[in-house]
Amino acid sequence: MTYIIGKGCVDILDGSCVDVCPVDCIYSKPGDKQLFINPDECIDCAACEPVCPENAIFVEEDVPEDQSEFIKLNYDYDYDESEPGKNV
Ligand code: SF4
Ligand code: SF4
Repeated sequence: MTYIIGKGCVDILDGSCVDVCPVDCIYSKPGDKQLFINPDECIDCAACEPVCPENAIFVEEDVPEDQSEFIKLNYDYDYDESEPGKNV
């Protein structure tokens, strides 16, 4: 299981989630339109979910069907080429 960032983050990426994540597993790099949660590092603590002003963060099982493509986006993101935090 992991948490997934969905479409509400696109072009918003205010970074509120980054500030509360205890394991720094929310990543980005310059040019990104949203932030991404590394599924290999997320500890499913749920701290990020309530602080997102766009309600863009879901536990994987609860991602709305019309945002299901964001599950793959979060899994496939190139975490090795980015850094934890808001680096856009
Ligand atoms: S808090 Fe929500 S909108 Fe802000 S960066 Fe995180 S996922 Fe994106
Ligand atoms: S659920 Fe916890 S560990 Fe996972 S991204 Fe959110 S704050 Fe970070």
